[in-house]
Amino acid sequence: MPTSANPAHVALLPSAGMGHLTPFLRLASSLVSLGCRVTLLRPLPIVSSAESIQFSDFLSSHPTVHCLDLHLLPFDPSSANSTDPFFLQYESISRSAPVLLPQLLDPLEPKPSALVTDIFLASSVAPVLPRSPQPPLFRPLHLLRFHALPLRMLQHPGLPFVDASMVPPVLRDPNNLFAQQFSNNGAALVATDGVLVNTFDALEPRALTALNQGEVLEGLPRVFAIGPLKPLERKRAQARELEWLDGQPERSVVYVSFGSRTALSEEQIKELARGLERSGFRFMWVVKTKVVDKEDEEGLEGLFGDGFTERVKERGLVVKDWVEQGEILAHGAVAAFVSHCGWNSMTEAAMHGVRVLAWPRNGDQRINAGVVETAGMGRMLKGWEWGCGGEKVVAGEVVEEALREIMEDAGVGAGAARVREEAVRAVAVGGSSRESLAGLIEKLSKC
Ligand code: UDP
Ligand code: UDP
Repeated sequence: MPTSANPAHVALLPSAGMGHLTPFLRLASSLVSLGCRVTLLRPLPIVSSAESIQFSDFLSSHPTVHCLDLHLLPFDPSSANSTDPFFLQYESISRSAPVLLPQLLDPLEPKPSALVTDIFLASSVAPVLPRSPQPPLFRPLHLLRFHALPLRMLQHPGLPFVDASMVPPVLRDPNNLFAQQFSNNGAALVATDGVLVNTFDALEPRALTALNQGEVLEGLPRVFAIGPLKPLERKRAQARELEWLDGQPERSVVYVSFGSRTALSEEQIKELARGLERSGFRFMWVVKTKVVDKEDEEGLEGLFGDGFTERVKERGLVVKDWVEQGEILAHGAVAAFVSHCGWNSMTEAAMHGVRVLAWPRNGDQRINAGVVETAGMGRMLKGWEWGCGGEKVVAGEVVEEALREIMEDAGVGAGAARVREEAVRAVAVGGSSRESLAGLIEKLSKC
């Protein structure tokens, strides 16, 4: 551990969207608690209300963190080949960062010994940072937001643990711009001094070993598994959900959420409602109809089909706001999680021993679902294929059957409990992730 006389100084640059910001703030908080000095770069303007609130809550509860605003340079969105506001924001950060980072970081005293950024920004940021062993202004380290697998997805098809069908169609097209960026980011990792992953040895032993033994990418620096990153402590602001859970029996509730930026079609919402109702289980469902929260202003009326809310009011709670998911998954009444398998959500389910019904939608989510299945803490939705829940609607009967299977499978319950124990062990004193992070800080304090 560094002494307070010579603490490691780490600068952090997150990418766009809650799923990307969350692990950065969790890491920043862990670094502070382990005695590091932290500089947080905040790209402005911010896309979602959830991100704005998260930044300001974090800064007020971590007064020693130095926040530097990165005012994004104007760019023409039509040159980005996408209309997704989070993708446009990411594109804007990746174009601005190489220009702005040196100006922002050069004057800092003491100099940061590392910059941690998102895998999405690797190829734009790595070239502007000097590398050891030249006298380092700071050394680039990259936080791989999710887990150990996707790195190799494109560059090395035929991996034993990633079937090509797990990779979304868009990333299998070598002419696709996004696919090319993935490839460039993978290649850029060899120009960094380390890769941080929000996972733990016991959850992805094979992938971590393969990465660290050079089987995945020649020249890849050390991969540090430092997860599951601990959620930030929150005030019990959303008492309504927690109070409702307090009134439910132990391990009886199905929690349904597709993350911070995945909207379901109206048709799919109706079918999911039918499935939840037919299953007879208690449930808490966070409904999203728009990608960006600021635009999600319509009420719930008419969304589910006639009389649904009234019929399920004794055993279901439907929410259309941001919820404190970490606290919901930590509640003893929650048994199962119907999830799109965003990696933050999966680390949270792992931490709390909640079984997962995996319903991937995009990106790495099918691969994440594979990790969940292999670890024994969940199952895939039967008949799942790319497009399920989006352009392909899953019928209520399929949802009903899947819920029954996941709730009644004692093996999955035991698997989830085992993963929880392993997660707790990994972050405890002497645990693999905790030692990995402490070792990294020790190194940085000597830079
Ligand atoms: N989240 C939350 N409340 C919500 C929706 C999401 O707290 O109403 C959190 C969730 O706990 C997770 C993050 O937002 O930490 C979402 O990240 P994830 O990687 O699971 O999925 P993404 O939103 O990036 O698709
Ligand atoms: N990823 C990667 N290379 C990149 C960008 C992302 O390997 O250049 C991986 C990343 O580690 C994660 C997944 O791709 O596993 C995230 O992709 P996704 O499209 O789900 O991101 P999101 O939609 O949540 O922003």
